[in-house]
Amino acid sequence: MTENYDVIIIGSGAGGGTLAYTLADSGKNVLLLERGDFLTREPENWDARAVFVKGRYISKDAWFDRDGKQFQPQVHYFVGGATKLYGAALYRLRPQDFGELKHVSGISPAWPLSYDDFEPWYSKAERLYQVHGNVGEDPTEGHHSEPYPWPAVSHEPRLQEISDGLAKGGYHPFHAPCGILLNEADRPDSTCIRCATCDGYPCLVHAKADAEVIAVRPLLGRPNVTLLRGAEVTRLETDDSGRVVTRVIVSRNGEREVYQGDIVVVCAGAANSAKILLNSANDAHPHGLANGSDQVGRNYMFHNCRAVAALSKEQNDTVFQKTLGINDFYFATKDYQYPAGNIQMVGKSNAEAMRGEQPEETMFAPEWTLSDVAKHSVDFWLTTEDLPVPENRVTTDRDGNIHLTYSPSNAEEVDRLYGEFKKILNHTGMAAHHVWRRNFYMDMDIPLAGCAHQAGTCRFGTDPATSVLDTNCKAHELDNLYVVDTSFFPSIGAVNPALTAMANALRVGDHIQQRMA
Ligand SMILES: Cc1cc2nc3c(=O)[nH]c(=O)nc-3n(C[C@H](O)[C@H](O)[C@H](O)COP(=O)(O)OP(=O)(O)OC[C@H]3O[C@@H](n4cnc5c(N)ncnc54)[C@H](O)[C@@H]3O)c2cc1C
Ligand code: SF4
Repeated sequence: MTENYDVIIIGSGAGGGTLAYTLADSGKNVLLLERGDFLTREPENWDARAVFVKGRYISKDAWFDRDGKQFQPQVHYFVGGATKLYGAALYRLRPQDFGELKHVSGISPAWPLSYDDFEPWYSKAERLYQVHGNVGEDPTEGHHSEPYPWPAVSHEPRLQEISDGLAKGGYHPFHAPCGILLNEADRPDSTCIRCATCDGYPCLVHAKADAEVIAVRPLLGRPNVTLLRGAEVTRLETDDSGRVVTRVIVSRNGEREVYQGDIVVVCAGAANSAKILLNSANDAHPHGLANGSDQVGRNYMFHNCRAVAALSKEQNDTVFQKTLGINDFYFATKDYQYPAGNIQMVGKSNAEAMRGEQPEETMFAPEWTLSDVAKHSVDFWLTTEDLPVPENRVTTDRDGNIHLTYSPSNAEEVDRLYGEFKKILNHTGMAAHHVWRRNFYMDMDIPLAGCAHQAGTCRFGTDPATSVLDTNCKAHELDNLYVVDTSFFPSIGAVNPALTAMANALRVGDHIQQRMA
C-alpha cells in the first residue's frame, strides 16, 4: 500500500530543510525525501586537496551544455544540500532588489512582493541560522526589525587594517553577516573553532549553520517527521484533471517506490527542481508539470562571480577571512549609472586549494610559487548580478538529463566592479606592492560548472502567463504543488542567495500551516 503524508518535501537544503523545520511543530506528518546521504564527518572534510582538487563532495552527476558537451556540475547532494559546503555568508537582498533595476544588459525585474513583505521572515531566518552581524554598518541594507542575534564575527588584524584603510578612503566597509556557531565572548564554549577551512568545505565539528545542523538534525526522532535518504525523486504524477499531484515516484537503492502527499513541495535546487517538473510531463501537462507558461527551467541565474587573490608584500596570516564586505558599488554611483555589485572576502587561499581552482594553469605549477602566493594573498569574491534571460535555461533530454544553456549578461558591470576593486586596493596597502613587486592578481571567472548560486527556474509572480508559481510559491496550475528553493527568484540581486531561500521557506511554511489548519 502506498504511504500517505500530509506534506512531502523533496530536497533537504536551504529551502527544503528549513521548510521541514518550520512544519515539524504543526504535528502534521512530514516526509522529507533527500537523494543524498548525511555527509560523513572525516578528516577529509578539512583537507583542501580532498575538497578542491579531488572534488570529494561534488556529485558525480553529468549535465550537458548547449552543445551537448558533458560536464560535471559542482552540486552537492547531501542532507543539508549545498549549505553543507557553503560559505555561510547570509545576506539579505537589498530593498531595491525587490523593485525593478536597470542594468547595462537590461532590466532586473521587480518581485511580486516587497522587501517589507520579506523583512519579518529575514529576521526569523537570521535567528534560526544564528547569523552574526552588525546592523547599521552597511549603508545599502534595508531596515531590520530586530538586531542580528549574534554580534558580527570580528576581523583579524590584517582584515581590520584593510577595513580601516577603506574607511579612511571614504568607503563603507562592513562586517559581513555570517552563519557560524561562533561565540567569541566564550571561546572555550564555542562550537565553532574559527578555522581556515570553512568556505567551500564541510564543517567537521558541525559548527556551520547549515541546513542539516540547524534544520534537519534537530528533527530526527520526531514521530511526525520521516527523513528518507538516498531517495531520488524522478517524477511526479497527477490525477486526470492535472490539478493534483497524486504520486511521488522515487528511486531508492535501485528500487522504485511511490509516496503520496496531500501537499508536495519541490526543493531540489533550481536546476533539479526544473528537471523534476520537466520530466513529469503528462497528458494534462504536455510540456512538463506546471509549465503551461513555458517558464519552467527558464531564467536560470547563478551570478557573475569572480574570485580574486590580491598579493601584498607582507604575509596575510588571517585564519577566518570571510568577515568583510563592501557594497559601495552595489547600486549606480555618481561615476557609473548601473549597479556593479558586491565585494566580499572568500576563504583564505592555500596552495592545495588553488591547484583545484584552475588546474590547467596551476596544477603543475611549482609548489613554492603557489605556497608563496597563498601566504601573501588576500582573497576577495566579486559578485555582479546576472539577469533572468529566458534563453538561459534548463531543459531535459529524452533520458531526463539536465541540459544547461547559459550566456552571461552584464559583462560591462563585471569589468566595472573589477576596476573599482583594483582602485580600492590603493587604500589597503596593496597597491604600493603592486608597483614594487610587479604584483599580479589571480582572477578566475567562475565557469558554467560552478553553479553554486543557481536560481530562477520557476519564478514566482502574479501572472500565470509569465510565472510558474504564485506569491505563495504554489504552482499556478496545480492545487497542491509548491516549489520552495532558489527556483522562485525572479531576479538574483548581487548578494548570496541562501538567506533569501531560508526566509522564503519560513514564509511559505507559515502559509502551508494555515492552509492545513
Ligand atoms: C561552495 C558553495 C559556497 C556557497 N556559499 C554561499 C554563501 O556563503 N552564502 C550563500 O547565501 N549561499 C552560498 N552558497 C549557495 C547556497 O548554498 C545555495 O544558494 C542554497 O543552498 C540553495 O538552496 P536550495 O534549497 O535551492 O538548494 P540546495 O541547498 O542545494 O538543496 C537542494 C537539495 O535537493 C536535493 N535533491 C536534488 N535533486 C533531488 C531529487 N531528485 N530528489 C530528492 N532530493 C533531491 C539535493 O541533494 C539537496 O540536498 C554556496 C554554495 C556552494 C556550493
Ligand atoms: S570556521 Fe567554524 S563553522 Fe567554519 S569550518 Fe571552522 S569550525 Fe566549522
